Amino acid sequence: MAKKIAAGNWKMNGTSASLSELETLTKSHSTCDCAIVICPPAPLLFRAANLTQDSAINIGAQDCHTDQSGAFTGDVAAHMIADTGASYVIVGHSERREAYAERNRDVRNKAEAARDAGLTAIVCLGESLEDREADNTLDIIGGQLAGSVPNGATADTVVIAYEPIWAIGTGKVPTLDQIIQVHDFIRGELCARFGTETGNQISLLYGGSVKASNAAEIFKAKNVDGALVGGASLQASDFSPIIDALN
Ligand code: 13P
Repeated sequence: MAKKIAAGNWKMNGTSASLSELETLTKSHSTCDCAIVICPPAPLLFRAANLTQDSAINIGAQDCHTDQSGAFTGDVAAHMIADTGASYVIVGHSERREAYAERNRDVRNKAEAARDAGLTAIVCLGESLEDREADNTLDIIGGQLAGSVPNGATADTVVIAYEPIWAIGTGKVPTLDQIIQVHDFIRGELCARFGTETGNQISLLYGGSVKASNAAEIFKAKNVDGALVGGASLQASDFSPIIDALN
C-alpha cells in the first residue's frame, strides 16, 4: 500500500509572515494517518523545518540542482536542502520544465541528487492541453516517467505527481475517469519497471486545481494516494480540509 500524502507547493509565494499558516497546520493536525508536506520558497526552508520539527508536518523544497557544489549562481544543492531539516524536494514541475527548459534527464539527475542527499523527490509529470487534445497523454506521461524517474527508485526516494498542465491554476479539473486512466497507467508502468511490490508502494499524487470542494471526490480513485496542491495550500484554512479529506 502506498503512503497517503497531502503536499502543498507554495511556489513563489510567502514570507516569514506566512509561517503562521504552518503553525496553524501543526496545531490542527498533530496526528495524521497521512504524510503532510509543505514546500515553501527556499528562503523559508530553515525556519519552516525548525517550526515543524516535532510535528506531523514535513518540509520540502521546490527544486534542487543536480550537482553538490560549484559555480551555479542562484542554485541550491540537494544536501543543502537536507541541511535545513527539509525531507522532500519537488523536481520537474511543469513550470520549471517550461520556464527553464528542464528535460527528462535533468529531472532524473535532480531526483538522483535528492536521493543521494536522503531526500524524497516528488517527480512531476503532466501533459499540455495540446497533447491531451491530440490523444497523446499516455505517450507523453510514459516518456516523462521513463526519462525522469531514476533506476532503483523506491517509495522512500520517489513520489510521483501527475499534474496536467492545463489544470494548474486554471480551475479546470480532469474528469475522475481521466485521472483514473492516467494514474492506473502510471501504476502499471511503475510495477513493470520496479516490480509489483515497489511499484504499488510508490505514492501517486494528483495535482491541478485541487480544492476542499473537489478533493474528496478525487481521493476516491484507487491509485490516487493524495494531492500536490498549489493555490489552496497557501492558507491553512484552505489546506486543512484537503488533509482531512485524505484521512
Ligand atoms: P494549483 O493547485 O494552484 O492548480 O497548482 C497545482 C500545482 O502546480 C502544484 O504543484
